[in-house]
Amino acid sequence: MISEKLREVKDNIEAAKAKRSFDKAQEVLLIAVTKNHDIYAMREAIDAGITDIGENRIQEAKEKFETLDRDVTWHLIGHLQTNKAKQAVKIFDIIHSVDSLHLAEAVNNAAANIGKIQKVLVQVNLAKEDSKSGIYAEDMEELLYKVDEMPNLQLMGLMCIAPNYEDVEDCRPLFAKMHEIYNRVKEMDFQTANIVYLSMGMTHDYQIAIEEGSNMVRVGTGIFGPRQY
Ligand SMILES: *Cc1c(COP(=O)(O)O)cnc(C)c1O
Repeated sequence: MISEKLREVKDNIEAAKAKRSFDKAQEVLLIAVTKNHDIYAMREAIDAGITDIGENRIQEAKEKFETLDRDVTWHLIGHLQTNKAKQAVKIFDIIHSVDSLHLAEAVNNAAANIGKIQKVLVQVNLAKEDSKSGIYAEDMEELLYKVDEMPNLQLMGLMCIAPNYEDVEDCRPLFAKMHEIYNRVKEMDFQTANIVYLSMGMTHDYQIAIEEGSNMVRVGTGIFGPRQY
């Protein structure tokens, strides 16, 4: 039952928040990652209290966006190709995966064309994994300032995906480091950016991510069970 699993995830989120030595009152936004799950599962989750949906692929999201008769916030959490920016800005309230100047420009132009201010996060590849998207931490500040200057983007924070370590505890120092970077970014001198989101944590590591300062977690399997491909 989706509603029971959702209750479990929410309890785990509260327990992880309580373990934090800082920012105990900081809310954590739960994004239900619905990739490879159908519209019925999505409705069930939303009727059980989910307000935010995460999808990876534009085509799948587009079909669901056109079919889903519920009012939710849509998050693009997967890698975005510049040639799909036009479709992405029509669907998504927040794009988590901006990781290059080239992509930021494409999203800014696409948003300008439909008269939208697109909320975005910048994805950081902290562990420098070849297999993952995201900008390296040392190149991040320059991109953040450039995104801040783009008239049709609003920068809202940072996103990261931890490596898939065998022992999930190995993620902890990375999450702590990301939180440190996030706190530093909050102090940067921006024009329009409003840095409020640190998107980190998935099914296997969201409790550790929250303990280390995440305020936005992306949970699929933990709510819907394993994906069928
Ligand atoms: C698929 C995905 C998730 C959710 O993964 P689960 O392990 O099913 O919770 C979270 N974030 C990103 C970027 C994803 O691609």
